[in-house]
Amino acid sequence: MNENWTFDVETLGTVRVANDLVSSLSQYRQFNHTIPESGGVLMGSFLNSNGALLIDNFTFPQKTDHQGRNNFFRSEAHNNLVHNIWQQSGQKTTYIGLWHTHPEPIPNFSFVDANDWRNALNISSYEGDFLFFMIVGTKSIRCWVGEKKRFRNSISLISEVQIAAK
Ligand SMILES: [Zn+2]
Repeated sequence: MNENWTFDVETLGTVRVANDLVSSLSQYRQFNHTIPESGGVLMGSFLNSNGALLIDNFTFPQKTDHQGRNNFFRSEAHNNLVHNIWQQSGQKTTYIGLWHTHPEPIPNFSFVDANDWRNALNISSYEGDFLFFMIVGTKSIRCWVGEKKRFRNSISLISEVQIAAK
């Protein structure tokens, strides 16, 4: 099992993903056809002015979401949860991205995912210029980093972590 999932993002610094978050997200893996897609928001805190980031919180599927076998619609309910978590943390734990599951071992993003992520980069409000997008497959979690740029936002695969068998 992974001890520490960390990766570096140019101009941001080292990003660390809490082990608890990895195991929590792993519980939503789509091991068989009866398990629908799950998803939510990723949250974390900036550790210092150099921008090092700890990703350690998330929102889980809500009743108002739509969970299909190959699709997930994230409802507005997540916005309130994010606000509550942010307040309860003394305004430290903030929105830093999105996560969802895929019924495949090593996840790849779809056209719909890319649109969703670009919308998040363009429309949602967040600290700094980066958002992180995780897809939880059955064997690994992959993380893409999206960067808000003046002319065209970029999205690139930045890291992957193996997850233990069930
Ligand atoms: Zn997807």
